[in-house]
Amino acid sequence: MADVDAIAELASTRRWRTMSACRDVESNVFFAEDPMGLFEEQSAKAVCGQCFVIDDCLAYAITHDPPFGVWGGMTTAERRVVRKTWLNTLAS
Ligand code: SF4
Repeated sequence: MADVDAIAELASTRRWRTMSACRDVESNVFFAEDPMGLFEEQSAKAVCGQCFVIDDCLAYAITHDPPFGVWGGMTTAERRVVRKTWLNTLAS
């Protein structure tokens, strides 16, 4: 249950956004036309890999389920696998 609480707490504040590695990167790298091209996906994930707030970003995305883009180093499809596990943990 501690992981569930940690995710909710990390997602509760948006201060992390001011420290994001993507704040000066073109948004189309993270929100390319659907379906996201492999180049854009890899470029976005490379930026996320250098980001100090990747855990906060991923927690936000898991709890809020944005429908597009790379958040916290994961695509929408990848996040939804994690989100499903998180929701199942909440329900148990
Ligand atoms: S993890 Fe990626 S999408 Fe999230 S704030 Fe950092 S660079 Fe931006």
